[in-house]
Amino acid sequence: MPELQSKLRLPYDGQLLIDGAFVESESGDRFDVENPADRTVIGSAPDGTAADIDTAVDAAQEAYEHRWRTLSARERGRYLFEIADAIEAEMETFVELETVENGKPRDQSRSDVTEAADTFRYYGGAADKHHGDTIPEKRELFDYTVREPYGVVGCIIPWNWPPMHTADFTAAPIACGNTVVLKPAPEAPLSSLKMATLWQEILPDGVVNVVTGGAKPGARLASHPDVGKIGFTGHTQTGTKVMEAAAETITEVMLELGGKNPNIVLPDAPLQAAVEGTAAGLFTNTGQACAGCERLLLHEDIADEFLSAFTDHVSALTIGPGLDPETDIAPLANKKQYDKVSGYIERGKAAGATVLYEGSVPDDVDDGYYVPPVLFGDVDPDMDIVREEVFGPVMIVQEFSAVSDAVAMANDTQYGLTGAVWTKDMRVGNRLARRIDAGIVYLNNYDNGTFLGAPFGGFGRSGVGKKLAFEETLQEFTRTKTIRTRIAEDTVDDLDAYYTDD
Ligand code: NAD
Repeated sequence: MPELQSKLRLPYDGQLLIDGAFVESESGDRFDVENPADRTVIGSAPDGTAADIDTAVDAAQEAYEHRWRTLSARERGRYLFEIADAIEAEMETFVELETVENGKPRDQSRSDVTEAADTFRYYGGAADKHHGDTIPEKRELFDYTVREPYGVVGCIIPWNWPPMHTADFTAAPIACGNTVVLKPAPEAPLSSLKMATLWQEILPDGVVNVVTGGAKPGARLASHPDVGKIGFTGHTQTGTKVMEAAAETITEVMLELGGKNPNIVLPDAPLQAAVEGTAAGLFTNTGQACAGCERLLLHEDIADEFLSAFTDHVSALTIGPGLDPETDIAPLANKKQYDKVSGYIERGKAAGATVLYEGSVPDDVDDGYYVPPVLFGDVDPDMDIVREEVFGPVMIVQEFSAVSDAVAMANDTQYGLTGAVWTKDMRVGNRLARRIDAGIVYLNNYDNGTFLGAPFGGFGRSGVGKKLAFEETLQEFTRTKTIRTRIAEDTVDDLDAYYTDD
């Protein structure tokens, strides 16, 4: 493993954070976390249980009632500013911890951790800027609305952007006056546990609680009767289970799920920009990005030229460990993902798709979870690699001749997270952007990094609700109450009459 440059000490062995205290799971069990670049153990986390979730929800409920809902929004905001500063003060430790637990190149980890700090600062500033309404009513009745927190919010996150997801699903809820029980993914829990050390110092006890572990504590959190709202990011199939569990108690859910995103290159596209943008869209986080581009739709007139330039570009990218500053494409984040992506590549080949390009993993890298980039052509619309999210550096290529066909191909998916259009004609670009059934469309870029301030969320089976936005995200974590008040009718001419005894 290349040398660490921060004060990070490995192995990193974190504990659960419940009610302001670091504790082991009631099970007493722990699980190891691997560095995907060389399969060495770089830390461990408690294997939390349903009983740990129950204890954490009780602590969060108590903190909500007695320590958090009673603060003014501005006071809550100040806590979030302090968390943002604390993350920045330990930037390099967070960056390296993410790189060794998730694998991604150090620069990508840095933008992830930077966004995590920015997210706390953003929602710290937003806390006191979210208002209710007044509604015109008849005569002496006066209606106004207030935005109230749900109480305890249960948040369940995946492994692909650990610091950012940790921030997305804690900053906005607590800014709104909720308290949180967070369940990180077992594949990459260490960034959340590291952030817990800052929360433990800064926040009142129980405002954010962290229970690591697998599906069992996740399922308990999704069905817990005292949880007022669920925030979930992960696979569509798991999202369905979470929604079903929450249905029992009619608990609201916010779901950020998978994608199979189309990237349309029109005949007049700025070709080199489209080539580089497509590579960025495909290889960010080694393709383990819900917003990434797994489907390339090329106009037949430029298909050969584009593919030739694209394969030249990809051949020049460096495959290696995330800690190496030269690395462009890092290993996949864990064994589960390695097996899954390798399986899709094998099934694509077995189904008869043509391999247009397949890279190779250099001989001198350690034995990590490396999968080289693969481009498939001559695909059938029913193949798994066309319909399902692979979540790796694997892209299918389809050609079209009429723009209307490109729209139909782009929308032929159960998902609707993102899409992209490349053209020099902004009239066509904007019209096409409106026809793609997705929550986010990139026009002449595939910048799938930071979205802070812009609503992020999908259509269809890519989810419900928006994160990272101002108004829409603050709506997610608050509920509206209408207060109808009887006041004086506006019919008294003489205000002195109020002071005159009958
Ligand atoms: P996953 O669905 O396997 O796991 C996500 C989380 O759910 C983990 O914490 C897991 O332990 C937990 N979980 C598993 N079973 C559960 C259950 N029955 N009840 C409650 N919780 C349960 O997903 P993953 O492999 O960790 O992440 C990859 C997926 O996440 C991809 O599909 C990707 O597209 C999606 N994702 C979406 C977004 C977005 O914003 N739309 C962002 C990142 C990742």
